[in-house]
Amino acid sequence: MADPQYKRILLKLSGEVLMGDQQFGIDPAFVLELAKEVKAAKETGLEICLVIGGGNIFRGMAGAAQGMDRAQADYMGMLATVMNALAMQSALEQLGVQTRVQSAVQMDQVCEPVIRRRAERHLEKGRVVIFAAGVGAPYFTTDSGAALRAAEMDCGALFKGTSVDGVYDSDPKKNADAKRYETVSYGKVLADDLKVMDASAVALCRDNDIPIVVFSIREKGNLARVLSGEGVQTIVTNHTE
Ligand code: UDP
Repeated sequence: MADPQYKRILLKLSGEVLMGDQQFGIDPAFVLELAKEVKAAKETGLEICLVIGGGNIFRGMAGAAQGMDRAQADYMGMLATVMNALAMQSALEQLGVQTRVQSAVQMDQVCEPVIRRRAERHLEKGRVVIFAAGVGAPYFTTDSGAALRAAEMDCGALFKGTSVDGVYDSDPKKNADAKRYETVSYGKVLADDLKVMDASAVALCRDNDIPIVVFSIREKGNLARVLSGEGVQTIVTNHTE
C-alpha cells in the first residue's frame, strides 16, 4: 500500500535512466520496465505527475561547452525531454495506463500545452500526466520543471528517481566511507552543495514545503517500496530530527 500521506506525487526521472545499459538515447525495453514501476505505483491509488529529463539525448550545457549558443542548445534539450515523454507515454499506454503529455513548449500536433486545470481533470480521471519541456525556458533544467509542477499541481512530495539510492555526504562512487542521509534539510543540501537537484529546484521545494524523496529507480519494485516508506531513500525536508 502507498503511504496514505500522499494523494498525489510528482515523479522525476533523469533522462539517463531511459538509456538502460546503452550509452545514449532510449532503450524501449527499459522504458517499459520503468512504465511497469509507474503502473504499480498508480494501482495503489496515487495520482501521478511525471517529469522526465533529457540528458540521455541532449543537455544544453554540453552543447554550450562545444561552442553552441546556450539558449539554442537548451531549446534542443527541451525537445529531447519531449521525445522521452512520448516514449514513456507509449510504454505506459502499452500497459493500459491512460496518459496525457503536456509540454511547456507548445507542440499542438504531438501533445497538449501545459494547462493546469486540464491537468487536474486528467489526474481526477486516473490519467498519468507527463509534463515535458521543463519550465519552457532556457537556463533551467527539468529539476526546476519538476519542482514547479509539483508546486502548482499541489503534489505531496517530489520523488526523484536516479541511479543512486539517496543523498550522501560525499560521492559514494569515489568514497567507500560516504554516508547516506535518512533525512537532510534543504538548507544543508544548499549550503554543502549536495548533489540532489539544482539549487533553484531545491529552493522552490523548500519555499513550498515539498519534501524531495531521492531513491534509486534502477532496482525493480523500488518505487513501490519507497512509496510504502520501506525502501532505501533520503528525504530532503525542513523537518529533520
Ligand atoms: N532544459 C531547459 N529548460 C528547462 C528544462 C530543460 O533549457 O526548463 C534543457 C537543458 O538544456 C537541459 C536539457 O533540457 O540540459 C535536458 O534536461 P535535464 O538536463 O534537466 O535532463 P536530466 O539531467 O534530468 O536527464
